[in-house]
Amino acid sequence: MAAVQRLLRTAASGGAASVARRRMTALAPEQAPLAAAFPFAVAERSRRRPAEERNVQWVFLGCPGVGKGTYASRLSRLLGVPHIATGDLVRDELASSGPLAVQLAEIVNQGKLVSDEIIINLLSKRLKKGEEQGESGFILDGFPRTVKQAEILDGVTDIDMVVNLKLREDVLVEKCLGRRICSQCGKNFNLACIDVKGENGLPPIYMEPLLPPNNCMAKLITRADDTEEVVRNRLQIYNDMSLPVEGFYQQQGKLLEFDLPGGIPESWPKLLHVLNLEDQEEMKLATA
Ligand code: ADP
Repeated sequence: MAAVQRLLRTAASGGAASVARRRMTALAPEQAPLAAAFPFAVAERSRRRPAEERNVQWVFLGCPGVGKGTYASRLSRLLGVPHIATGDLVRDELASSGPLAVQLAEIVNQGKLVSDEIIINLLSKRLKKGEEQGESGFILDGFPRTVKQAEILDGVTDIDMVVNLKLREDVLVEKCLGRRICSQCGKNFNLACIDVKGENGLPPIYMEPLLPPNNCMAKLITRADDTEEVVRNRLQIYNDMSLPVEGFYQQQGKLLEFDLPGGIPESWPKLLHVLNLEDQEEMKLATA
């Protein structure tokens, strides 16, 4: 974990980020009950420990289809922390046909956001379960999605860094429409081959399809919210509700902007470079 420790020490050694890390958000009275649902809300537990004494607590932001899940899960494996995607928690709840399922299906299939109460409840349950199993640190993907959620999170724990993945909107739509999931193994694939010429000052962008192996091919399904109409609605909702979250973390000096240069082969090494994690991966590969 040397590179991570270094990264965290750098972040902790002064400047806006460290001031922000020590800052506690004073929650509005109506936010307090939601905050209290988090397992680390009441007591000053491991998540208030100095960053260099615990695992990373990162957030991944970015529009639908940008690849938050792909890069967050790769980093979580590299750093040994759980990747917690609130979209997955919502889909698990939908699949469980529990009491919330019908209500959630209607909201999610229209591309709308689930209420803060429901999402915080699902996330808190997931964090509690992880804590009982000895998990420490996390990479959050898909949370927070509103400034209110960001404030509640800020009131209960310290976020070290927020990675904001960026990609042009026409590519995001193509990627969402090409997205497929294997109904048996649950893995994500993408049938879209993105090959966009550079124009109007924007660089060209090429992304190979991420094709499934033969045994998954016949079992591919499309998410109900990955139709063009719903994807455009989700992008609009992102711009309205989630863009301000970028500003929230920008002000705290925690936002790391990352323009994806292409597919995984080009983007992954560059992301590791900006995160100062290249030697971490080399070590992992050497000992694999
Ligand atoms: P996306 O591909 O749009 O990033 P996700 O898989 O993260 O989608 O989320 C799927 C859906 O789950 C969202 O459209 C929304 O309905 C719900 N959801 C996930 N996270 C949140 C959140 N933090 N707040 C509210 N709703 C959420």
